[in-house]
Amino acid sequence: MSIKVKNVSKFYDQQKALHNVSFEIGKGEIVGLLGPNGAGKSTLMKILTGFINPNEGEVKVCDEKMTEDSVSLKQKIGYLTENNPLYEDMYIKEYLHFIAQLYKCSQNNINEMIKLTGLENEQHKKILQLSKGYKQRVGLAAALIHNPEIIILDEPTTGLDPNQLQEIRNVIVKCGQNKTVLLSTHIMQEVEKICDRIIIINRGEVKADSPVNVIMKQHKSIEKYFHELTA
Ligand code: ADP
Ligand code: MG
Repeated sequence: MSIKVKNVSKFYDQQKALHNVSFEIGKGEIVGLLGPNGAGKSTLMKILTGFINPNEGEVKVCDEKMTEDSVSLKQKIGYLTENNPLYEDMYIKEYLHFIAQLYKCSQNNINEMIKLTGLENEQHKKILQLSKGYKQRVGLAAALIHNPEIIILDEPTTGLDPNQLQEIRNVIVKCGQNKTVLLSTHIMQEVEKICDRIIIINRGEVKADSPVNVIMKQHKSIEKYFHELTA
């Protein structure tokens, strides 16, 4: 298993953000994480990537326990956070060099990442000169630079126009080959198009965990099913 989540709960002071969450994700799967705003998606991703520890339960990544202190294990994960924070004054290449240094990985991957994420024609620009779709590509390139086995993407397509959306989806599918991917989104067609399986959470609890084709067969529409579970 690439990711094993067992009975994970998280509280922010009195507020319960996750309650007894369990699931497993196998190697090579592409899984969509759906849930209304405030459901706990970002909290769950922060725990999976070792940014924060859960209050209860355990996460295992590649059969090793993940905590805030798991420095070497974090090398196996590429994580695009919700707001994709970037140093906008840096040039694209300069920024990717900086990230590669942080990961202590080869600088040789940079040109490959620029190509993979379709940044070739923009690579002379500063990040602040880029459209939102291209900034997302830079975030993806940065998340992938150390060639992680597992990719975790927190709402990678939110706020993009329809063309950018399609392009970023293609990049995700291309980058996700031979990797394990967990991505959160509010776009139902997106999960239908690119995911093998869907996990739906609401108010911090797992409400469904099913292959996309099973949900389509049993419920006809992911959107309808989602509304039933989260209303
Ligand atoms: P989602 O990503 O699904 O929108 P989040 O994981 O961001 O959900 O949030 C889950 C709940 O936890 C929300 O009620 C949110 O307000 C709360 N929350 C998230 N981060 C914090 C924090 N750092 N401190 C306090 N409450 C938080
Ligand atoms: Mg979120």
